[in-house]
Amino acid sequence: MAIRILANDGIDATGKKALEALGCIVDTDKIAQDQLADAIQNMGYEGLLVRSATTARKELIDACPGLKFIGRGGVGIDNIDAEYARSKGIDVFNTPASSSQAVAELVMSLMFAAARGVYDAGTHMPSSGAEQFEALKKKYAKGIELRGKTLGIIGFGRIGQSLASYALGCGMKVIAHDRLNVPSIPVNLTIADQVMSVEVACHSFEEVLSQSDFISLHVPKQTNGAAVIGASELEQLKKDCILINTSRGGVIDESALIQALQDGKIRYACLDVFVGEPNPNALLLLQAGILSTPHIGASTVEAQERIGLEIADNVKRIYQL
Ligand code: NAD
Repeated sequence: MAIRILANDGIDATGKKALEALGCIVDTDKIAQDQLADAIQNMGYEGLLVRSATTARKELIDACPGLKFIGRGGVGIDNIDAEYARSKGIDVFNTPASSSQAVAELVMSLMFAAARGVYDAGTHMPSSGAEQFEALKKKYAKGIELRGKTLGIIGFGRIGQSLASYALGCGMKVIAHDRLNVPSIPVNLTIADQVMSVEVACHSFEEVLSQSDFISLHVPKQTNGAAVIGASELEQLKKDCILINTSRGGVIDESALIQALQDGKIRYACLDVFVGEPNPNALLLLQAGILSTPHIGASTVEAQERIGLEIADNVKRIYQL
């Protein structure tokens, strides 16, 4: 009997093919959250694949005794009641290694864009560029360079380390803070096929906050749901700091961030993740100094392909194919 899988938030074509090659039938027609349990039962799905949009909570798990696995194409599994599912004998997996490079590259693009006001200037050019070219030229003439600046990375796991290798390659000084509490962590840097290992020093949280020109967060959603950066941490940042969050909404306190930008305490905040996705706070998006993207950290063609193949590897493991 074929293994029926519902990829409710879609799956890359290469991953789908790899699953089909294992004898799976993969459906990608999106089913609304409130109809999901019925559909899983009626269609006999053994596997549910999700990204960020679909949730797999206790109620769904209880209503679907035929489920054998729930897979998350991505890193965080906060949209799945994973421990509960496992207690019911359901295999829960994610694809932790596949998206690090994509997220790291998004952070680099956000840092470059914020440093030069590229995003802001780009939105003004179509409407005002023809008449107010000189004024815009003056307005965006105070960009800064990345080389020589200090990047503080909070949460120095897979994505943090991948980001460090890009930033070191651009000539940035990189410092890190992680709960692991080790003095330094080696990061591999590949330039023209030559691999070199660079020790990145780990500092206290307060040192990273006060010494960095750019700060990028790469921690998971905290178990108590608390913000890692709130009003008191924002007070400790350098005046022109550029803050980037591509980890999870709520890791930065959004109200405190709006206040800090309004008070001119930081230069820019770049956000890929938001509280209340898919309905983020409109006031936050409208705030001057916020450069935002709609949770696209892992959404590159290459990463989605890697994620699809990592999912197929997991299905192979579960069914011992
Ligand atoms: P990882 O587990 O490899 O690394 C996370 C690190 O954060 C760990 O080393 C951990 O010790 C550290 N940490 C946790 N809480 C901390 C705290 N309060 N202070 C300091 N360090 C802390 O995870 P990863 O693969 O690097 O991914 C990080 C996060 O990025 C994921 O949990 C996910 O939420 C997010 N993510 C977002 C996207 C996106 O599309 N924007 C894509 C992939 C992952």
